[in-house]
Amino acid sequence: MAFSNIMGQKQIKLRLAAEAQRRGSGAYMLSGPEGMGKRLIAEEFAKALMCSDAGPNGACGVCPNCKYFDNFTTPDVTRVYEPTDTKMVKVDFIKDSVVAESYLKPQFARTKTFIIDFDYLGVESQNALLKSLEEPRKDVVFILTSSNTDTVLDTVMSRVTEIKLDPYSDEELEQIVKANCPDLEDSKVKAAVYNSGRIPGKAISLAREDSGVSIRHEINSIMIAMPTSTYIDVLEDFCEVLTGFKDDAKIIASSILMFLDDAARLINYPDCRKINNETDREAIENFVAANKHITTLKLGRCSEAVSTFMKALDVNSNFDSSASAMLLRIHEELKK
Ligand SMILES: [Zn+2]
Repeated sequence: MAFSNIMGQKQIKLRLAAEAQRRGSGAYMLSGPEGMGKRLIAEEFAKALMCSDAGPNGACGVCPNCKYFDNFTTPDVTRVYEPTDTKMVKVDFIKDSVVAESYLKPQFARTKTFIIDFDYLGVESQNALLKSLEEPRKDVVFILTSSNTDTVLDTVMSRVTEIKLDPYSDEELEQIVKANCPDLEDSKVKAAVYNSGRIPGKAISLAREDSGVSIRHEINSIMIAMPTSTYIDVLEDFCEVLTGFKDDAKIIASSILMFLDDAARLINYPDCRKINNETDREAIENFVAANKHITTLKLGRCSEAVSTFMKALDVNSNFDSSASAMLLRIHEELKK
């Protein structure tokens, strides 16, 4: 593994590889929303700092220090991630395992590195770190990460070099999804990327929830068929489809809501740039064009039917009867 194995973030990787070669001390704060890959980059930066032969691409991957790093056996890297037994990291742990340790010299590598996820550090722990961050030893590097720097003390932020992660391009996101889900069809890769809010971690989990993608597609087909369907179609065929997805009631509900939202958007703004179901856009456009009787008011009443369905499930009502009640109300609004 080297920086080249991490997709995207080109400038940041170049910068960190150069910092590792320079072997300066200091404190860096990698910031960006959850799922952006901060930890992956922090780990790779730490490895480059450990490596005896780091180059413009980061760690060499073959020297003993790289091997120790890969096996988690180097005493020169300390990781402070989410605790297993408490919500936040205990301040005593910070004092003993980070502050005290940061005054000792590295044992094997030329740099001692601390990777600390600030999402799990309360005010007291952050305060305990201030002095170490301000005057680190010449051979100590702090790599901090935060999903929300609003929760980081100003006194910490003023002592670190903040590196904000860059947005990923669609191509990069698609590569990331494909690397994690190599068997996924292209259209599903694109759908996962589209719905990810440009967060690679989210795109990967969406791709993994492949069933979610297929549920959404099935739901769209039902909704599109709704205006020309009969009462019997709804009660027999459509209900059967929903029952098949019984364990994913939330995905059913969110899929219907996404469809209703898309239809409302296309009624109000036929040229709108993006809709939730971009892959089914043409079909939804045709649905809107062929059903001029459907108003946003009717779509709003359909959304209410979905809320009622979810509330019913919350109090453990029978799935089949709640689903058929919802579908019949939607049918009543959308039928020709
Ligand atoms: Zn190496």
